[in-house]
Amino acid sequence: MYITFNYYPEGKRKALTMSYDDGQIHDRRLVDVFNKYGIKGTFHLNSGKFDTEPFLNSSEIGDLFKGHEISAHSLNHPFLTMVPSDVMIEEILEDRRRLEDLAGYPVRGMSYPFGNYNEDLVKALPFLGVEYSRTVQSHGGFRLPDNFLTWHPTCHHDQNLLDQCKKFKNTSEWDQMPLFYVWGHSFEFERNNNWELIEEFCKMVSLDENVWYATNIEIMDYIKAMKNLRFSVDRKMIFNPSSIPVWIAVDGQPVKIESGQRIAL
Ligand SMILES: [Zn+2]
Repeated sequence: MYITFNYYPEGKRKALTMSYDDGQIHDRRLVDVFNKYGIKGTFHLNSGKFDTEPFLNSSEIGDLFKGHEISAHSLNHPFLTMVPSDVMIEEILEDRRRLEDLAGYPVRGMSYPFGNYNEDLVKALPFLGVEYSRTVQSHGGFRLPDNFLTWHPTCHHDQNLLDQCKKFKNTSEWDQMPLFYVWGHSFEFERNNNWELIEEFCKMVSLDENVWYATNIEIMDYIKAMKNLRFSVDRKMIFNPSSIPVWIAVDGQPVKIESGQRIAL
């Protein structure tokens, strides 16, 4: 008997997540496209800009992003490494506080404004209740991050998105838990007049039974729960202490371990 770790929820082999920044009004149209095709996204929002042009209204945030993830992007979008430490802290904490009021749940993720970060900022995030933060350093692959606090995406949507989609569809069964992570801004579709790109992409990537469509935080929570499984020394007993179920492969077949469940193999 051998155990491997290569399944997302429901025994799916791959995952897709979308990550869009700044919270401009064009997020409305983007959410419509995502919803039409069952795609899940995370929206990194600057709550200090709500209710001013061309940003979203605070009153619409909760409803608009239902089923997606509301996540932080700082209050006012500064270069977080260039401001005094106390300002950096307020920019993140106050953004979380305001977003949580609108979302109705703890806001636990972030993306770096301007993709700007340094070691000090990365180290500060856990103390500010931020568990992951996305960079703008596309790696062009489908690998999971080494560190969720510097989570590098696959590509921006202007970086050969449809070719990447074809590659994603053709990943080998030996690839371990491929993750396709796309980032961008909804205003870019408006500015570049290419809404058909995201529509075409969502159509192409949707309705695949091998793919888990998830928000950023759902991906992180699942990977952490998987790594948090506890095994007996002889590997014959497994305990899942996390709050979500985890799927592992036993002799190549998916086995679900419920939250709080202990199983004997
Ligand atoms: Zn931004």
